[in-house]
Amino acid sequence: MSDPGQRAETVMTDEQLAEARLYGRYSLACTLADKAIDLLFMAFAAVVLAQPLDRWLQLHSALLAGNRSLRLVVFFVLTTFIHMAVSVPLSFYSGYTLEHRFHLSTLSPSGWVRRYFKQNGLAIGLGSLLILGLFWLIWTTGSWWWLTAAAAFFCATIILGRIFPVLILPLFYTIERLDAPELAERMAALAAGTGLTIEGVYRLDLSEETVKANAMLAGLGRTRRVLLSDTLLNNFTPEEISVVFAHEIGHHIFRHVRKMIVLGLVISVTGFWICDRFLMSGLIHSGGPLDYATLPVWTEPWIMLILTLFNMALEPVMNGISRHHERQCDRYALQRTQQPAAYISAFSKLARQNKDDPCPHWLEVWWLHDHPPISQRLAMGRAVPDDTSLPGLPGS
Ligand SMILES: [Zn+2]
Repeated sequence: MSDPGQRAETVMTDEQLAEARLYGRYSLACTLADKAIDLLFMAFAAVVLAQPLDRWLQLHSALLAGNRSLRLVVFFVLTTFIHMAVSVPLSFYSGYTLEHRFHLSTLSPSGWVRRYFKQNGLAIGLGSLLILGLFWLIWTTGSWWWLTAAAAFFCATIILGRIFPVLILPLFYTIERLDAPELAERMAALAAGTGLTIEGVYRLDLSEETVKANAMLAGLGRTRRVLLSDTLLNNFTPEEISVVFAHEIGHHIFRHVRKMIVLGLVISVTGFWICDRFLMSGLIHSGGPLDYATLPVWTEPWIMLILTLFNMALEPVMNGISRHHERQCDRYALQRTQQPAAYISAFSKLARQNKDDPCPHWLEVWWLHDHPPISQRLAMGRAVPDDTSLPGLPGS
């Protein structure tokens, strides 16, 4: 093994850098096109499609005419199908063609199709339940629906957070408890005193889909665990993996998941309240004011459109908070491991393996990135902070 101090100096060759930049530009174009398609489709669904579709469903089915809950679900599923049909070429290009062009994907075309239908099937199933719950609250709790809906959404977030690593993620990847005694010993030492047990470290077989490496802290309460991708475990040295693991411990120590859930509650109260004011403003309906108890099914795309616009407006703020959390964890990882050379080589390797542009445009970072650019993370490693007051450190 070569000296980590030497490796740290070379993040990417000129050729690798040019490729990462090109990949970054294509990915950015796909992200922006995807946002534009989403917004245009939702505006079209709300303004043009909603009322005729609702009327058509009532005219053609006595069952749907007499059962608004069922009609709402059918309406939601139909509009989602149309949305999928409109966006599938871009989904295939960004999820398959582009990833293969840059030698990042390990999926076959049929593998991509299977994942696409699995993902969308799950989204339609969960989305139907959430939409039905939302309308049921509007119909029954009237003018206070925005508060009850935010409370319900909070509970749904907690349930989803709990089941995500044990029920949802395994639908897409093989996940196994990490079986590497030497690594486990290192991790147990790093996790000591932080409340995160070593029993909670898992290997995520990301190589079924991509060559990119990743790590994450997922789950809540008893399902809380650190997931390290096989693409990371197979290519990184034990020292580098320890740094990445320490970063994930940071998320646990600083209670980032909990903080984001609480922030999500504040955001959903605000978002639902804005929806309420908009629905009751008379702007979308010429035939008199809308009533909560009889709120028509066709208002569903309007609610989706307003919530999407609200979330898009908040995106830079949310990404700013996320980048702040990531920096906190990077600093923690450096302090905890005391191995800046391993930190630098881990992030350099990550940039090369994932073809991350180390220095994207600041506007792109501000708007769309939830992690700091690699160049900034490396700079932090080169100027190791001297702060021993962080929780979980020996002696603190
Ligand atoms: Zn992180």
